[in-house]
Amino acid sequence: MKKFNNNGSIIIMGGGLAGLAAGYELSRAKKRVLIIEKWDDVGGLARTLEVNGFRFDTGPHRWYTKSNMVNDWMLKILGDEVIKVPRLTRIYFDNRFFFYPIKLMNALTGIGIITACRAVIDYIFARFRARLLKPHLLTMEDGYINQFGKTLYETFFKRYSEKLWGQDCKQISIDWVGQRTRGLNILTILKDTFFKSKDVVSLVDEFSYPKKGIGRLAEKLVIEIKKRGGEIITSAEVNEINVIKNKISSIGFKKNGQKTLVKGQQFISSIPIDDFVKLINPKIDKKIIHLAQKLQYRDELQVALFVKKTHITADTWIYVHPKTIPFMRVMEMDNWSDDLSPVGTTTLVFEVACNIGDNMWKKSDTEVIKMISDSYINEFKLINKNDIIGGFVHRVPKEYPVYHIGYKEDTDIIKKHLSGLSNIQLVGRNGTFRYNNMDHSVEMGLYAAWNILKNKKMYEIESINIEREYLEEKKIENIEDFSLEEND
Ligand SMILES: Cc1cc2nc3c(=O)[nH]c(=O)nc-3n(C[C@H](O)[C@H](O)[C@H](O)COP(=O)(O)OP(=O)(O)OC[C@H]3O[C@@H](n4cnc5c(N)ncnc54)[C@H](O)[C@@H]3O)c2cc1C
Repeated sequence: MKKFNNNGSIIIMGGGLAGLAAGYELSRAKKRVLIIEKWDDVGGLARTLEVNGFRFDTGPHRWYTKSNMVNDWMLKILGDEVIKVPRLTRIYFDNRFFFYPIKLMNALTGIGIITACRAVIDYIFARFRARLLKPHLLTMEDGYINQFGKTLYETFFKRYSEKLWGQDCKQISIDWVGQRTRGLNILTILKDTFFKSKDVVSLVDEFSYPKKGIGRLAEKLVIEIKKRGGEIITSAEVNEINVIKNKISSIGFKKNGQKTLVKGQQFISSIPIDDFVKLINPKIDKKIIHLAQKLQYRDELQVALFVKKTHITADTWIYVHPKTIPFMRVMEMDNWSDDLSPVGTTTLVFEVACNIGDNMWKKSDTEVIKMISDSYINEFKLINKNDIIGGFVHRVPKEYPVYHIGYKEDTDIIKKHLSGLSNIQLVGRNGTFRYNNMDHSVEMGLYAAWNILKNKKMYEIESINIEREYLEEKKIENIEDFSLEEND
């Protein structure tokens, strides 16, 4: 086994935005940093791939944050690369398009007078029930019905959610609804309809975006980290985490079949928490391993079609509800930025939710591209076969953490157990098993780095991306500056 000459450094597992944000902050403060990333490139879930001159994102990624600190941090990295993109997102079902976030008049007129009346009655009933009975809400279904009433739930949320998760909404925890539609209720929709309110997360209708694709954030961080002497190893999978006396002493990773062992003082992990638990050596309590094994994820195929047309629709992305259509969302890259596709062309990116090993996942790339092209052409009739000049399939394991009922209790126990290890911090979306957006993952990475630099756990990573954060807006106003450089 190879040994890595890396004593005294900080080891970061996973080169997504959380790991890179931490690496950037630490390298700015002249710390020795080593980032180990399993994929052939960094960026994790927020990448921009380039194929034959077409740049396209790994799913629609709009930058939005309630934290000025995180926003300033992002602007510092990307500078004048950032543009403002107007958002148009719609829902497609029953051969019709509806605005998303829901616009009341559009929704009620679109679903027909009888369903609309039922929706209003159901909504009033749900609100009274919520106020008077204060029902115990457990599942995603409970959450949506409580917020919107049964008819709106069945019309606008149930089908899509079940397509995304591949499970009944009764099997998924209400927490997902809380995070996803935080603050979005009929009152805010009414306000939006009549007064164009802009104060709610899901109603943001313009967002920041790097004109060369969301992956620029990761690309720029890599440049900055390397400039300061940080090291990033890609195509390297962490496959053991060695513990001595409640401290991680070293980790092992595999690259090109070669195993390497590397020691470190401090560790940050953004790799999935269940993998982390599994890799600890010597093995930890079976009960914890069992809880980790219970955690589920939804995987995804992302299918890019390169098309000899521009602005096929005006949408940044469209949610596609019918189960008969294999993809659940389609985004059109030239509605995000003109700098992503060769002149006269665009890329459509389709998301197909599935589970590793199922029939969809097992299809060959050629089969998947044909299936998606046929389906899009036949259903929407906006392009024809001759317009398509190429395709590409990106397979993403562990795209969405699934909040099974009881997941919170399970992950709390796992995290409590892992908190017994004194030199590791868990960050990131799958690292903390939190439905993070990019800003949350960045903030977690920053907190982890600052904790190391302050030499104590001052910043509470677990406080990020929970309801409380949205109430205590602008918690931290300034970026911590540990930089030893004069002009950064
Ligand atoms: C389709 C989609 C759309 C999204 N849209 C938005 C949006 O509009 N706005 C927004 O703010 N956020 C959005 N997000 C969320 C955003 O992408 C994530 O929150 C963010 O990218 C997560 O970063 P991370 O570093 O926490 O995790 P990840 O990106 O998952 O990074 C973890 C890294 O660890 C690596 N890894 C795993 N196991 C190992 C191992 N054993 N050894 C070494 N490396 C390992 C992985 O390869 C990965 O690169 C979206 C996500 C998806 C999937």
